[in-house]
Amino acid sequence: MAKVVVLGGGYAGMRAIKVLIDKAPKDTQLVLISNTRVHTEKTNIHEVAAGTTTPKEISFDVAEVAKPQRVKFIQDTVTGIDLDSKEVKLQDSDEPVSYDYVIIALGFRSETFGIKGAEENALPLTTLDEASAVAEHIENQIKHYQDSQDPNDLKVVVCGAGFTGIELLGELIHSTKKWAQKYNTPNVELYCVEAATSILPMFDHGLADFAVDYLKRNGVQFVLGAKISGVEPGKVVYEKDDETQEVASNSIVWTVGVSGSHVMDDPAFSSKRGRVITKDDLSLNDDHPEVFVVGDVAAIMNPANNRPWPTTAQVALKSAAHAAENVANLVSGGSATPFEFHSLGTVASLGRTQAIGEVAMGGKQVKLKGYPASALKKVIVDRSLFYDNGVSGILKHGRFDIWH
Ligand code: NAD
Repeated sequence: MAKVVVLGGGYAGMRAIKVLIDKAPKDTQLVLISNTRVHTEKTNIHEVAAGTTTPKEISFDVAEVAKPQRVKFIQDTVTGIDLDSKEVKLQDSDEPVSYDYVIIALGFRSETFGIKGAEENALPLTTLDEASAVAEHIENQIKHYQDSQDPNDLKVVVCGAGFTGIELLGELIHSTKKWAQKYNTPNVELYCVEAATSILPMFDHGLADFAVDYLKRNGVQFVLGAKISGVEPGKVVYEKDDETQEVASNSIVWTVGVSGSHVMDDPAFSSKRGRVITKDDLSLNDDHPEVFVVGDVAAIMNPANNRPWPTTAQVALKSAAHAAENVANLVSGGSATPFEFHSLGTVASLGRTQAIGEVAMGGKQVKLKGYPASALKKVIVDRSLFYDNGVSGILKHGRFDIWH
């Protein structure tokens, strides 16, 4: 009887377990290890950070998919993987967990790139708890203004204008207005400090301009070509036009990028920023065909341009499904096949009712902006819940506002 261990309960880990339940021989022993019982719909984490969605709406118990009668769930933090002895080491247990096959899906962590003060003075945004802390912090500062009359209590600086920063700003437009009304304060100023001179370069110019115009019209002030060099208590310091400049704020949110899990820093994985270049079948290397690496810890190469696919939920879900199918085949005496990725498209939301997106439809790349793009993102989210969690999951977590 083969033992398959899946590490991580994010999009990739949950999808891998689901496919293994469906496709591995029934006597295969399945184990899921995650440091939390809660799976989070991370594509909506910026909504929690802006206080427009509650943590409950985007989380569910991993046991809803990893049914206890079929999957052994271990709640613990993975500290290392011994590739030679085929064992996973855990933080709270002296007993390592052995495996015949392992699927590593340990996800991402916030990256500071060694920028001084970022860890101490800016709020990270990678977990559900961090997202709740961001919303609570911003609301508290706005409330605090009533006593302090400090204008920096009414400023929010988002560091980095990648997907996370832009989607967060799209939500903050609405929530900061509500909080300002609630605490009877003047308007809250929103800033975004970004090293690049253009925003959302992965989108067609027209779409990127639409997003930037929309955010600017709603009060977001972009500081572009501004490379953050430090974060001090109450201010972000950056280099722009060969000068050191700063913007003061009592709410600084850090969205300048992510790396793969620390576990991948082990030299045995030869990772770069926590990401491992996989073989085309998503296994680690020729020496370890029993180890598969998927989601944000994997650098899965796109043969068309020899660059890794971006670390999106879509790539995580599809790579995990493929790795799990390969493991199911290997356990049954078959062989692993190469992974092929065909993107469904990319959508960046700008609050609940606006978005931009480029989507594959009928063999064509269709560009969408405004409400239609926003509705599409909800459909994509629903799809992920539907497959992982069944119809009851969608009803419970309710994202049916698309139909109204
Ligand atoms: P990111 O790496 O995509 O963006 C970080 C931004 O910070 C970049 O624009 C970069 O130029 C900027 N930056 C980096 N160093 C800086 C510095 N010193 N000073 C100023 N700016 C600096 O990170 P992210 O937005 O957290 O996204 C992480 C991953 O998750 C990405 O792969 C992204 O595609 C994915 N994601 C996708 C979606 C979606 O598909 N809707 C949503 C969120 C995240």
